[in-house]
Amino acid sequence: MNSSVPDFEVGIIGGGPAGSSMACYLAKAGVKCVVFERELFPRPHVGESLVPSSTRVFKDLDFLGQMEEAKFPHKFGAVWTTDDEKPAYVHDLEGLSPEYNVDIRFDERKQEGMEDRNYTYHVDRGKFDLMLLKHAQKLGATVYDGVKVARVDFGPEHPDVYFNIGPKEMSVSCKMVVDCSGRQTFLGNQLKLKIQDKVFDQYAIHSWFDGYDRKVFAKRDTNLDYIYIHFLPISNTWIWQIPITDTVTSLGVVTQKKNFAKSKEDREKFFWQTVGSRPLIAETLRKSDRIRPFKDEGDYSYAMSQLAGDRFMLVGDAGRFVDPIFSTGVSIALNSARFAHKDILKAIEKNDFSRASFSDYETKLRRGTKNWYEFISVYYRLNVLFTYFISDHNYRLDVLKLLQGDVYDEDAPEVLTKMKAMVSKVEQNEKHPWHKLLGDLTSDAFRPQIETDAGRLAALSCNKSASAFSSVVISQSGKSLALTFNNPSKISALATLEGKSLKATIVPARDASGKSGCEDDQPLMLTATVDPNTEPRSLTGVISMNGCPSCSPLEFHAARQPRAGGGGAH
Ligand SMILES: Cc1cc2nc3c(=O)[nH]c(=O)nc-3n(C[C@H](O)[C@H](O)[C@H](O)COP(=O)(O)OP(=O)(O)OC[C@H]3O[C@@H](n4cnc5c(N)ncnc54)[C@H](O)[C@@H]3O)c2cc1C
Repeated sequence: MNSSVPDFEVGIIGGGPAGSSMACYLAKAGVKCVVFERELFPRPHVGESLVPSSTRVFKDLDFLGQMEEAKFPHKFGAVWTTDDEKPAYVHDLEGLSPEYNVDIRFDERKQEGMEDRNYTYHVDRGKFDLMLLKHAQKLGATVYDGVKVARVDFGPEHPDVYFNIGPKEMSVSCKMVVDCSGRQTFLGNQLKLKIQDKVFDQYAIHSWFDGYDRKVFAKRDTNLDYIYIHFLPISNTWIWQIPITDTVTSLGVVTQKKNFAKSKEDREKFFWQTVGSRPLIAETLRKSDRIRPFKDEGDYSYAMSQLAGDRFMLVGDAGRFVDPIFSTGVSIALNSARFAHKDILKAIEKNDFSRASFSDYETKLRRGTKNWYEFISVYYRLNVLFTYFISDHNYRLDVLKLLQGDVYDEDAPEVLTKMKAMVSKVEQNEKHPWHKLLGDLTSDAFRPQIETDAGRLAALSCNKSASAFSSVVISQSGKSLALTFNNPSKISALATLEGKSLKATIVPARDASGKSGCEDDQPLMLTATVDPNTEPRSLTGVISMNGCPSCSPLEFHAARQPRAGGGGAH
């Protein structure tokens, strides 16, 4: 029910790393906030190896002391291994024995503001998530645990968050809602914002093992607590090895879903069969005890057509999920809370919770996750490049910067641009020695493509139906940028398009035939000329309607994205 004074300023759905850190930031700033968490913690959760950019958030939240007291294993670096006997699939690590693993140490590159830390952590997520949620409570956040949010009503005044206590339906009102529900993507589903990534449809199966001898691969004692990524001689398949305690190790197989389905075996058999392709890992595992049931996770990469809207934000996995090959998820969750809370504080101060108030967050997060996504795409497409760049002293620290999770400050990191250019070169030259090493996951990942925000364009509906503009295709071919709206209204539109490095004018290809707007049922095509030399990464513009008194001009933003398996916001 809406009332003039809402119960809370901010309602947060989900108490994982995104929700808890968001609640910590807000409570620390004196904001009255509530977290709804459907589970009773501690509960197991995948995502146990962090990257160093997480530490910045722990510092902000005065949480580093607790991380040390919990004695989580320190993570100083990462190792990638391949079989010394069989050739690795699309990996140029052929012939490397475990002694010749490719590794990096975080202390090779100092991170601003964290010069005193050359490590991050591996965590038991049951324990870690509980600690962070309790920390939020201690800082002043209200926590309703064991409470599953059923729906959010965005009423005319404030959103109401509905949940059940026993058979009774209850609600609280808030000034705004932050969705941190993880891969449940609660608001993304309710508001139909989700775009499935058809390329990265990986599947994981994992468990914990006691007594797995980490020395078998470490060779050096200093490497014992690194994360190990073991590549298998099976297409796009790898194993993570993450220390949880001195004796307990988390191991999980990540593969493409189609590999799993093909095996026609049950899940446990599939795990052992796959691990068997690296006999040393299988042998070491068989000497240990599995202490948890196997758990599987599937179908998990996706984006959202918008990361914020009027009175809501999507943070952490609720806003975006990228393949976990570089252990990115928790760091993205924590850092998205770091960025998002700043916009929320400003929105509270101005009492303006419209989408425009959250644009800094959207821009920053899209930039960071785009960089991750491109790095991952390059990696799967031609992973020899990863080895090549990390072994080149000119680029090693730039690659390390990405691996540390410092991905939010640059639109196009130079090393990524170079990597993408090399991928294109190899793709175009069949005689290139690396051509045969091209992976099949991201075949056209770098085809120029413009993605825009269909959700926002819904606002162009001339106040008729919200779905009027829900479909828009933006394509670029040579110099032309075309925006095709599936528009049931015949409108006369004038639009201008401006990018950072270009100016262009959009003119309607189909104009209204004299009638004022919002009447007929015809598609509208807008075209613009784009100078291909400027390589615009993002375009912002304003579309306004001629002769439609009820239509207000609409700002829009279109960003060039790597192809997410047809996952543009079309
Ligand atoms: C196979 C795999 C391996 C991974 N490995 C790593 C890794 O090594 N390192 C890494 O950093 N990340 C990894 N990740 C990613 C990591 O798990 C996530 O990115 C991270 O947990 C995101 O945090 P979050 O707070 O956004 O979501 P979550 O941690 O999922 O938290 C969401 C919370 O919301 C609650 N919730 C959901 N719906 C509702 C509702 N309706 N009402 C109330 N509460 C609700 C859930 O119970 C949950 O506690 C991996 C992921 C996968 C799938």
